[in-house]
Amino acid sequence: MVKAVDAEAPTAVALLEKIVNINSGTMNLAGVLKVKDVIEPQLAALGFKTKWVPMDQLTGRAGDLIAEHACSLGSGKCGKRILLIGHMDTVFEPSSTFQKYEIVPGTGGRVATGPGIGDMKGGLVVMLSSLQAMKAAGVLDTAEITIVLSGDEERHGTPTSIARRDMIDAAKHSDLALEFENASRNGGVDGRDAVRIGRRSAISWKLEVTGKSGHSSAVFGKSLGYGAIYELARILDQFRAELAEPGLTYNVGLVLGGATAERNADDTGGTATGKTNVIPPVALANGDLRTLNDDQTVRIKGKMELIVRDHLPGTSARIEFQDSYPAMGVTPASEALLAKLQDVNATLGYAKEEVTDPVQGGAGDIAFVAPYIPGLVGVGAMGAGAHAEGETAYLDSLPIQAKRMAVLMYRLSQEK
Ligand SMILES: [Zn+2]
Repeated sequence: MVKAVDAEAPTAVALLEKIVNINSGTMNLAGVLKVKDVIEPQLAALGFKTKWVPMDQLTGRAGDLIAEHACSLGSGKCGKRILLIGHMDTVFEPSSTFQKYEIVPGTGGRVATGPGIGDMKGGLVVMLSSLQAMKAAGVLDTAEITIVLSGDEERHGTPTSIARRDMIDAAKHSDLALEFENASRNGGVDGRDAVRIGRRSAISWKLEVTGKSGHSSAVFGKSLGYGAIYELARILDQFRAELAEPGLTYNVGLVLGGATAERNADDTGGTATGKTNVIPPVALANGDLRTLNDDQTVRIKGKMELIVRDHLPGTSARIEFQDSYPAMGVTPASEALLAKLQDVNATLGYAKEEVTDPVQGGAGDIAFVAPYIPGLVGVGAMGAGAHAEGETAYLDSLPIQAKRMAVLMYRLSQEK
């Protein structure tokens, strides 16, 4: 497998260049299809049964590529059922000025840049390289592998129940997941490789506060009370003072209040009017919440609701949560999988990988499968600057990750 990855390394870089140069911003549905058209035949050539599930009519996004590889030994004799997940879209739409694959000057050809090169076209290449190496070594036949590549990881279609249905269904008949998102190398191109086994949730919340309006001389009084802005300030300050715990962050990103206050359609701003001598009847705030695991999510949402309900006189308030991504908590099963990866590193003569704290980095699709199976997060290309123009991938990380994943998948496929 190691020899096969090394032999194919130049082909892998050429494939990376080819797919990075295809714009596949999430809303460029035709571009996502073009990436699919490159990947699908390669999986078919490896013996995968592939299926394209269009989503344009269902969620307004391109769709999911599903590929299944059956184990040749027959039921009962096969090892762990492996799920590989990833995505074909990027955050860079055709309107972006960042469109082309290039080698970064002055890096000795080691670092390349391009839209989605790390997040996660490099991961698609790592995935294919590892499977091709297994094929070359004659060990792919006995592996049961399902691949689900979405076309909308960066900007989910809705409803989520349909947008993530294929991934969740695949998780229900798999034993573990490997997520080929970008990985980090701590300290840059010459730093230490890192992996993670947890991802925090991404939840947003909206506060709507109301109060009685009237002449400011009567504020704090029995008939008019405190007004909506003092009530909003009370709630936010209690959040600040009372919610903090390890691994949790919560931010307030937008506040509006006064005689009138209204959010815009995108929830990215709004309008407010008010006078210094009028008690404000309305106040609004938008914020987020990131948690380590679903227990923490439930506990913190409960605390927030209690704080919101403890109204100042003459006011009322309610909070609404919107879950974008659940949390992928660290579990004994994911720690066991990590230990197997570290054994693979030892076999290959690589240093032990560092384990990135879930507090760093954002949410991701693997969280949707995490309630069913353990997984490794970020086993794709290493690099820096994901989601920003100038995003990079360290080209030497591609064969390294492909070797790790080939050996790991082989071993898992041999385990009962
Ligand atoms: Zn990604």
